[in-house]
This record gives sequence, C-alpha cells and structure tokens, in this order.
Amino acid sequence: MDPVTSRPHAAAPRRRLVVVGSGMAATRLVEELVARRAPDRMDITVLGDEHAPPYNRILLSAVLEGTHRSEALTLRAPEWYAGHGVDLRLGARVLGVDRERRDVMLVDGTLVEYDVLVLATGSIPSLPPIRGLVRMDGSLHEAVHAFRSLDDCARLVAALPGSRRAVVVGGGLLGLQVAQALGVRGIRTEVVEGAEHLLHRQVSAPAGRILARDLTKLGVAVYTGARAVRLVDGPGGPALRLDNGIALDTDLVVLTAGGRPSTALARRAGLAVRCGIVVDDRLASVTDPAVHALGDCAETVASDGRGRTTGFVSPAWEQAGVLAGVLCDEDVTYDGARIVARLRATDLEVAVLGDVATELAAGGEVVEVANPVAGSHRRLVVRDGRIAAAALVGDLSRIGLITQHFDRRTVLGPHEPGDLLLPERPRGGGNGAVDLPDDAEVCACAGVAAGRIRACSSLEQVRDTTRATTGCGGCASTVRRLLGSRPALATAQKGT
Ligand SMILES: Cc1cc2nc3c(=O)[nH]c(=O)nc-3n(C[C@H](O)[C@H](O)[C@H](O)COP(=O)(O)OP(=O)(O)OC[C@H]3O[C@@H](n4cnc5c(N)ncnc54)[C@H](O)[C@@H]3O)c2cc1C
Repeated sequence: MDPVTSRPHAAAPRRRLVVVGSGMAATRLVEELVARRAPDRMDITVLGDEHAPPYNRILLSAVLEGTHRSEALTLRAPEWYAGHGVDLRLGARVLGVDRERRDVMLVDGTLVEYDVLVLATGSIPSLPPIRGLVRMDGSLHEAVHAFRSLDDCARLVAALPGSRRAVVVGGGLLGLQVAQALGVRGIRTEVVEGAEHLLHRQVSAPAGRILARDLTKLGVAVYTGARAVRLVDGPGGPALRLDNGIALDTDLVVLTAGGRPSTALARRAGLAVRCGIVVDDRLASVTDPAVHALGDCAETVASDGRGRTTGFVSPAWEQAGVLAGVLCDEDVTYDGARIVARLRATDLEVAVLGDVATELAAGGEVVEVANPVAGSHRRLVVRDGRIAAAALVGDLSRIGLITQHFDRRTVLGPHEPGDLLLPERPRGGGNGAVDLPDDAEVCACAGVAAGRIRACSSLEQVRDTTRATTGCGGCASTVRRLLGSRPALATAQKGT
C-alpha cells in the first residue's frame, strides 16, 4: 500500500529475460528459475538455434551406438516450457545483439527485446589443419563429419550403412566416445591422436594406455603421437595421411579434435572476450552488467586473475544454479573453484577432480593405484595433506568419498589417500553405497549428495527433484543402491 494515497502500489514492471542457446546450461538455468517461481515475476524467452527440444548432449554417442533413441535424450519437452510460462523458440538463431537498444535479432529479422540477456551459446568444434577437409567451394568433404549436435549424429548414423571403415581424428573425450560407438556398430575404426596418449588433458599416460586397450577390445586401432595432415581421394575411396607416413583408407572421417567457446555473437556485440566471454563472480559480462554468460561459452576469472573456461556439464550446471540466484536477486557468487567431471569414455568410466597438471606443477605429490589387468587407474594429487586434484579411470567405487574430501579440503592422515584408492570393501551384503555419508557426492554432474537421494522414494522423484542421473548417467547404479537400501523401500520391496 502507498502510505500517502492508500492506493495499492502499481505492480513492479515484469523484467524481460532472454536466453540465447537452449543447450544443457540454458536448460538447467530455466529449471532453476522455475524452481524459484521466477516466471511469476519475469518474462523468460529461450532462443535456441537447434530444432530438437533441449537434449542431453553427453548421450549423443549412445544414439550413435544404437542403445538410445534420439527422443530419449530430451531434457525437457516444449510442453514443459509452455506449462511453466516460458517462451521456448526452437530453430531461432540469434544473429546480433544491440546492447544500446537492448534487443537481439533472429535470423528471420525478428527483434526480441530484453532487460537482461543470458548468453549460453556453448562451444563450436575446431577444424584441425588437415588439407582436403574443406572443398574449394568451402563445403566439407562428404566423408567428413563433426559430432556436436543431434543433427551431426543423425548425419553420421545415416552414413553408417554404406561404410566399413572410419577414422576418428582426436583422442580426447569425444573421440573416445565416438570410437567406442563405431566399434560397437562393427565399423573398423582407427583413432588418431597427436599427443602421446589418449585423453591426455585429463589423465596420465598409464591411464591413457588402459583406455586404449579397452578400445582395442572392440577392434579399434589407436595411433598416438601422430597427426593427420591430408585427406586425399584415391581410386579406392578417401584416405587420411598421417605425418608419420601412414595412410589410412577410410569411408568416414569424424572430427573430434576439440572445440572452442562460441563467442562470435558476444564479440560482435562488443563484449569482452578472451578465450570465452569474460564474466565476473555474478556471471555478468565485465563489459555490460545487463548481459550474463554461462556454460562452455563463459570465461570466469580466478582470484589470481587467470581466466578459465570449462567444457564440462557439471560446472555449467553449477553456474546455472548461481546465475538463477543472481537473476532472482539472491546474494550469491560463483567462485569457479570446483571442476568435477564425470566422463563417459569407452566402456570405462572416468572422473576428474580439479586440474591435475596445475596441481602437480605447484608441487603436489602423486598417490596412485593402478591395475591395468582389471582396467583401472586411480591417481590423487595431494598438496598440504589435502586432495588437490584426482583422475580416476575404471574403478569409481570410492568417488563419493574422494569428492567429499576434495570439496571440503579435508586434511588427511598419511595413510588416508592410499586407503581411499583401495577398492571398496563391500559391507552390508555387498551394497557399498549404503555406507556413504549423507553429504558424500553421488552425482557429479548435478552436484547431488547421498542424503538428498535417500530422501527420495523413487528414481522418478530423484530425477525430477534433484536432476541426479540426468547428466552422464554414471551415478545411476549408486542411486539405485541408495534407494534400495532405504528401510521403508527395502521392506516394501521384500513384501512384494
Ligand atoms: C558428444 C559430446 C559428449 C560429451 N560428453 C561429456 C561428458 O561425458 N561429461 C561432461 O561433463 N561433458 C561432456 N560433454 C560436454 C557437455 O556436453 C558440455 O559441457 C555442455 O553441453 C555445456 O552446455 P552449454 O549449454 O554451455 O553448451 P551446449 O550444450 O553446447 O548448448 C549451446 C547451445 O547454444 C546454441 N547456440 C549457439 N549459438 C547460438 C545462437 N547464435 N543462437 C541460438 N542458439 C545458439 C547451440 O546450437 C547449442 O544448442 C560432451 C559434449 C559432447 C558434444
């Protein structure tokens, strides 16, 4: 009530929030805003250039492998957006941002006005310097495929029936996933990686060798320390020449040699861009506080002034939670300190905490346990008695506790790091998850601890209320075991 006129206050004007991109970060942001009932107070418009409803990019390789239908990857259907009063526009590519007028222009010329703009444009695949990839008219050679979107995936799946051989260029995360999927499909696949071992940014050489061995079980050959330099058309079809003189005959070339933040829109709008769109601890552009960025396209700045881009879903989702709070006037900031990623690579699961290389360079000591025969390699980097970083391949049974100590910066006793790397000794009928403390992290993608899962009564409730299991899916078995161990559920299940 206005104390002078005794009339009700005029309703506060509704803010117009426009989100560019409808990928994994944008979807999570909208979920977080809906959970805060933000659509009651602001008009939210999401502009995504892809035609498919927002989907789980991590599981694209499962579609390539043939274990998932593409529809199964949908994160939220268009009806969900409509039901929560959010205007989702698909096939809506944003061409330009006018920061003075505060509007964005779509490819069809439509202008959409904003009060607050969020850029969630993700990353774009890099084109490696290989002669012959691009034809004279600028188009890609027809044997060449990218692997970033559902459209890329559909094009590759469509090419499989006429193909016997494939070369995957890049032995990082994407390359491993694609090679595994093609191997399962019975395509004779070769991976070419310029570094000395696979997944070299995340894991050590012995762990990389374990991943390579896992791939060779599917008939996939791995060439490390070799670069593809030229794609040539011969009488028997295309061949990819390597810098060590080898030529690989192939029907398909899949480019998985990394990506870079998609920043062209921000750059054209005059926003500060280094590797990514530079944002402060409220995820606002350092150039314009009315513009925010998150996910793969954003570059956060650490306290030492160094910028950091991520490229994983877990930090993107963590940023989404913080940005939703910022947009709802909560007193929250993003410290950018935590990189925890669960990767779906080959048949073996991989988990990465922190930045192993940086912590080693800073004087961290390595504690590791390897069992190449069983296909596992676990490495902790310990600095000042704390777990400063970790990379685990194969056996992730202790990842919950390791993540908990990493997050809390627990000072460990001299034997504890080693003990944490020993395989879990099952207690309680082999159900090790039962022993996890409530605050041990189970889902690295959505940052969900065991206690929140125990509080749920079904897998559906876990998915809906916590979003655990909806990222890489690596936590699904632990979630099931935690649910199965709930006293009420366990009794009910016995009774049925
Ligand atoms: C095949 C694959 C496997 C992966 N596996 C893992 C994994 O196992 N673990 C992990 O942690 N991470 C993984 N990642 C990385 C993870 O998917 C990304 O970190 C995550 O998707 C980032 O979310 P984002 O919203 O920032 O970007 P994206 O999900 O890429 O979404 C960006 C969206 O913005 C759209 N867009 C761009 N420009 C415009 C514009 N001008 N107008 C409108 N829309 C626009 C794009 O088309 C895209 O839909 C994988 C990625 C790929 C491609």
